[in-house]
Amino acid sequence: MKIICIGRNYADHAKELNNDIPEEPLFFMKPDTALLQEGNPFYIPEFTNEVHHELEIVLKISKVGKHIEEKFAHKYYQQIGLGIDFTARDVQRVCKEKGLPWEKAKAFDGSAPLGQFVDKETLGDLSKLSFQLEKNGELVQQGDTSLMLFPFDQLIAHISKYVTLKTGDLIYTGTPAGVGPVQIGDVLVGYLGDEKMIEVPIK
Ligand code: ZN
Repeated sequence: MKIICIGRNYADHAKELNNDIPEEPLFFMKPDTALLQEGNPFYIPEFTNEVHHELEIVLKISKVGKHIEEKFAHKYYQQIGLGIDFTARDVQRVCKEKGLPWEKAKAFDGSAPLGQFVDKETLGDLSKLSFQLEKNGELVQQGDTSLMLFPFDQLIAHISKYVTLKTGDLIYTGTPAGVGPVQIGDVLVGYLGDEKMIEVPIK
């Protein structure tokens, strides 16, 4: 199983980090050891003083595919959920400045909490899904798939040009604006529409 994450898929988030709007989807990966299943706390690693939450809609790949055409991409995922792409922003900043890969900042153990999934058929129009993150009961991130620069099916078409997608692979589809730091004692709760899908206590 692999975790593929999309960077800068919402213009308002790209802007808040002073990044350019990408011309094609930007993706990177996290290893399976990054996965943090629902019900587990997240422990802030000692190598960072600035872990940011990034709430993202997650697609679970349901069959193997390579060179998937955009018009067929919807056949490759059935379940949708929420995840958090934890990012050691201070470490990432140094990597970016030096032109180095991001793995130290993005791929560390526990950096990919994953909530529950629902069947996509129950969600209605996938191009108008709203989702939001609360930190200690306060709204911090609010997104809607209508604002994605590259919608789900385009992401799958693009990624599968380069990487074979396999059953069980996860695609974290990018974060909207409002990313920010977490500290010990915080509790993050994510909602897809009105449904609570993920809760992560910070330790
Ligand atoms: Zn992200």
